Amino acid sequence: NVRVRFCPSPTGNPHVGLVRTALFNWAFARHNEGTLVFRIEDTDAARDSEESYGQLLDSMRWLGFDWDEGPEVGGPHEPYRQSQRMDIYRDVAAKLLEAGRAYHCYCSTEELDARREAARAAGKPSGYDGHCRELTAEQKAAYEAEGRTPIVRFRMPDETITFTDLVRGEITYLPENVPDYGIVRANGAPLYTLVNPVDDALMEITHVLRGEDLLSSTPRQVALYKALTELGIAKQIPAFGHLPYVMGEGNKKLSKRDPQASLNLYRERGFLPEGLLNYLSLLGWSLSADQDIFTMDEMVAAFDVTDVNPNPARFDLKKAEAINGDHIRLLDVKDFAERCAPWLKAPFAPWAPEDFDQSAWDAIAPHAQTRLKVLSEITDNVDFLFLPEPAFDEASWTKAMKEGSDALLRTAREKLDAADWSSPESLKEAVLAAGEAHGLKLGKAQAPVRVAVTGRTIGLPLFESLEILGKEKTLARIDAALA
Ligand code: GLU
Repeated sequence: NVRVRFCPSPTGNPHVGLVRTALFNWAFARHNEGTLVFRIEDTDAARDSEESYGQLLDSMRWLGFDWDEGPEVGGPHEPYRQSQRMDIYRDVAAKLLEAGRAYHCYCSTEELDARREAARAAGKPSGYDGHCRELTAEQKAAYEAEGRTPIVRFRMPDETITFTDLVRGEITYLPENVPDYGIVRANGAPLYTLVNPVDDALMEITHVLRGEDLLSSTPRQVALYKALTELGIAKQIPAFGHLPYVMGEGNKKLSKRDPQASLNLYRERGFLPEGLLNYLSLLGWSLSADQDIFTMDEMVAAFDVTDVNPNPARFDLKKAEAINGDHIRLLDVKDFAERCAPWLKAPFAPWAPEDFDQSAWDAIAPHAQTRLKVLSEITDNVDFLFLPEPAFDEASWTKAMKEGSDALLRTAREKLDAADWSSPESLKEAVLAAGEAHGLKLGKAQAPVRVAVTGRTIGLPLFESLEILGKEKTLARIDAALA
């Protein structure tokens, strides 16, 4: 039975790297009809926050993920917040100490730093040097008499560590490169290095899928796992799979503090959860060489972590938007219209709700659906329908209103006045004819009309827009532009 986990720390805002990790774990669990455990790694009181915890849950729900064990759903390994599991870690640390698999280390930070520097200068490995590995009872007593409080350090076995990464294949670490490491702070607080594998063991996790940044902690965890197995605390060592780095601007690793990495940004821009997830799945995986757009069901049906590409993946906002646009196109029009609602209200749309004209919205929505890449674009695309006069943007005005525009607009007004307003075709004929009268192709002829009526040079299909706005308002706006 496959058991995977998603175990973020509630610090700051959720970011896209986190979402990709959640997605791959979720897809792996669902594909294998396994169990997804959602665990909160909140042992760092200085950095964790309730606000961030709330955001994590909200984001997971917004993205459409479900989990089988964890916050809000419970499960056989409760509690799922590490801050509520401190007794467990204390107990395991005591067992490791008792079995000699860990020891008390009294070295101060200054001493460690000084010895590290010296080792570096001598060209020797600069990790922990094993200073406190074999202290006698007297030596310990002497340190304690000095008022030192020890940390707990895990004793790495003197052996090569090899594991088969599901994404990267076989990986080997030599013992001199994986020194003994701290698992409990001097104040008794257990560290990530302990709590993460202990919980994976107790929660019987079979596959650990996580970011490449954690690869260097894996040999230590494998060794700790072995000790836990020998002590009867763990049943088995899980398989590990490290997902590739995500590169941002300038081919630098996308950091979680990078504004471009913030999930909230994509939510506010009006990404659909399914569009964003589709894009994020492509950061290391693909359904097939010729199909970029797919549903989460299709992903689940096909997902295998061994297909993940170990090479760094590039985050490409343009591509993300294009994929999201394709998902917008896939929506049922009613669904699309409903999902746009937040952007047709204050604060995005200050002209709503008093002026909101539902029938105009129902008429324009299908046209908007053919154009948008992200839902937030709806506001500027339809405001001309609801505002008493168009929100002119300076640059559009100068671009469209050239010499001769007035004459063109006057003819267009005349032809539009005489046109049949029951179909966009007839309005198009009118503008086409006006253009011909002034030696202009349709594209050139419609630009000033569009700006006079909508305020902008680009927007939704023009003649449909005019039809929906209506004859009276359209002509009045052309008059206003001519005045
Ligand atoms: N809490 C860790 C993190 O957010 C989890 C790492 C892991 O998946 O092992 O980085």
